[in-house]
Amino acid sequence: MINTTQKINAQLGGIFYQFAKNSSYAYWIRSADFRRQFYINHAFENLWGYSCDQLYRNPELWIETVVKEDRDRIRQHFLDVCENKLTTMEYQINAASGKIIPIKETSMPIFDKGRCIAFIGMAMEAAPELPSDYQDRASEFFRYFIEKSDTIFWVRDRKNKHPIYINSAYEKIWGKSRESLTQNPDSWYDLVHPDDRAKVGMQLVNIADKENDRLYSQRFRIVKENGEIRWVREKSYLMYNKQGEAIACAGTVEDITEDMFHESELRQAKENAEKANKTKSDFLAMMSHELRTPLNAILGMAQILRQSKLNKEQEGQVDVITLAGKNLLSLLNDILDFTKLEVGKLRFSRENLDLLYLINQLMSDMLPLAKKKQLTLTYTIDRDVERHLIGDARRVQQVLSNLLSNAIKYTKKGFVKLKVTSLQRNNKETALCFTVEDSGIGIEKSKIDSIFRRFQQIESVYQRQHGGVGLGLAIVKELVEHMGGSTAVSSELGVGSQFSCIIPFGLQSRELERQSTNLAPLRLVKEPQFNLHVLVVEDNKINQKIAKMMLEQIGCRVDVAENAEQALSMNYSIYDMIFMDLGLPNMDGFQATQQIRSHEGNTGHRIPIVAMTAHVFMHDQERCFQVGMDEVVAKPIMRDDLIAVVGRFKECFSDVR
Ligand code: ADP
Repeated sequence: MINTTQKINAQLGGIFYQFAKNSSYAYWIRSADFRRQFYINHAFENLWGYSCDQLYRNPELWIETVVKEDRDRIRQHFLDVCENKLTTMEYQINAASGKIIPIKETSMPIFDKGRCIAFIGMAMEAAPELPSDYQDRASEFFRYFIEKSDTIFWVRDRKNKHPIYINSAYEKIWGKSRESLTQNPDSWYDLVHPDDRAKVGMQLVNIADKENDRLYSQRFRIVKENGEIRWVREKSYLMYNKQGEAIACAGTVEDITEDMFHESELRQAKENAEKANKTKSDFLAMMSHELRTPLNAILGMAQILRQSKLNKEQEGQVDVITLAGKNLLSLLNDILDFTKLEVGKLRFSRENLDLLYLINQLMSDMLPLAKKKQLTLTYTIDRDVERHLIGDARRVQQVLSNLLSNAIKYTKKGFVKLKVTSLQRNNKETALCFTVEDSGIGIEKSKIDSIFRRFQQIESVYQRQHGGVGLGLAIVKELVEHMGGSTAVSSELGVGSQFSCIIPFGLQSRELERQSTNLAPLRLVKEPQFNLHVLVVEDNKINQKIAKMMLEQIGCRVDVAENAEQALSMNYSIYDMIFMDLGLPNMDGFQATQQIRSHEGNTGHRIPIVAMTAHVFMHDQERCFQVGMDEVVAKPIMRDDLIAVVGRFKECFSDVR
């Protein structure tokens, strides 16, 4: 035993030498300053890919192969060693094959008379860390993915000063090497567009100084060295460890130049579309005004003329003018409504409405048409139909008068009936079904599906006789659907048609119902007369005359102001009512009303002001109410509208003398 020990001991150096020579690990001895290589085994050739000879001739080759990021650290390590102690470290080398290889090295200084003269060590390829669990594997995959990604991923220290990691996308987007960032960590900022630097800098400060979980996001431009400008979006945040301490800043940067381009194209397209739409609306408003003004004159004068002493023949002639004017007006209204429906501008009001009154009015409008064709026009309302409703009276009237006038138009002899039934009701709502039935020409089965479509007409002599552009039913359908209802039709050729629509309404509270049932029924029995003193503010001479004559015909005394200034200079508080045109020169009707209202202040005296406008857009009406007007009448002014408006201020027609 002792023998063997002695034998081994005697050969120890040789044994270790043999072992080192044949080992697959690289064993080496060299001077501390990398200037002299005393020993290297063949494993070096396998690992590094360089020959042992190359290393002997140039011992610095070793440190030269160490990747830049690790080199200084390794060199410094050997310079700093002063203890006779084994140390292990890891670094990466650029092997001769071009591959980067991780190296794990254990070394020990060799001292001579207290001075470190050399190092001995062993190096081997560091085993890639085996994923201990899925998380490790995932992070490995992520690293792989991130290196391939077009998005920059970066990690910097807690103060956002020194880079810890950045992937290769940086080189693609910034056009600069990653090393340039190692040399100067702030060099990425040099490429930020001068106009964007302030906000980018601000975010840097924010993320470095504030401790929160916020995701910072911003878009900015970079100017590449070739002058090209790119848009990028950066998102950055703080990273926390398990103890909740902020340990680093991290972020992503994407090149969004193409997206920005599309976005601006889309924005431009949207802006253009909005502009075109606005132009269309403006054009419509203007057209409606321009068409209504002369119509106002025609219809107004015809109505005034009709009241004067005329012989039978003249009366007939005036009626023709009125009828033609009304047809033109209703066509104009249809076109306007339809376009407004198209651009989503038609608004629906929810006001109290009296169904009986509405139907009575409708019938009195339709009766003359039916009489002329010797048709019987009747209506029935089921007992359980609620009379006091909440809805848009004007729109309901529009729907029904469209259906009724069609029925009259397309019926040669027989009847036209309107039937109202209640379908459903609870405390707050009810759904009513309106059916218009006629004994007219009927509609072919194959055509029925298309008649609610716009501009659809069925060839017939009647159509040529009566005109129309095929918008009526399309509007009916749109209006009813906007009110939350639906339309239906059934018809038999040569027998007759049935058009029905279901419309939901709100119910008025019981309190209101009781109040309004106490009122006298709103029925026009005879020409009402009002003993009122009114002021008409209107610049157009014809309109002045019409308003004046119409108001005088219903018993009013009328003064006229040519413009707002003149009206304001008058002692207007003596009037019972003011009719105010909106489009006045210099100062418009809105401003004039505002002045009157502010003058009245808290005096407790408030003159009713009625706007007269050819602009029938909802927003005009809203503006009227905003500035303190009480009613709006549309031009051309209709006698019945005027009576209704004046009547509302005189507590209905009980004042009629
Ligand atoms: P128009 O302006 O032509 O009356 P509408 O949209 O109101 O347009 O109607 C479309 C078509 O439907 C009409 O041209 C007509 O052929 C048909 N129609 C509508 N109502 C009736 C009805 N009560 N009886 C027969 N045909 C009708």
